[in-house]
Amino acid sequence: MNIALTAHDAKKELLVQFCIAYCGILSRHSICATGATGKIVSEATGLDIQRYLSGPQGGDQQIASRISCDEIDMLIFFCDPNKSDMRDLDILRLCDVHNIPYATNIATAEMLIHGLSRGDLDWRNIAKPL
Ligand code: PGA
Repeated sequence: MNIALTAHDAKKELLVQFCIAYCGILSRHSICATGATGKIVSEATGLDIQRYLSGPQGGDQQIASRISCDEIDMLIFFCDPNKSDMRDLDILRLCDVHNIPYATNIATAEMLIHGLSRGDLDWRNIAKPL
């Protein structure tokens, strides 16, 4: 599965801790991330992460365009609820358009990662357009 990661500055450390905890599961998948998020997560976990531009420089749009092409199977986007803006809403809107599971907080992210580990998202490989 292709998993995209991003986090606002106030939530980056939480995402790092999450990725350390679930490194074993994440390492079996293809991970991409916005610039700064990808850098700190790969340094902390050793995960091989395809890094896009920094979010404010367009990295979130790069992920959004992969979502639009059905190339992302799950988005973990740890949002600072006090800092969210239209850019953030648009990437989440695209997940809804393309029926892509996403988590904006650690409680939901835990559920998704356990589902991923159980194979609950395998239907996405079957349902992908040719
Ligand atoms: P960053 O982008 O990972 O490059 O910091 C995330 C964001 O939009 O804040």
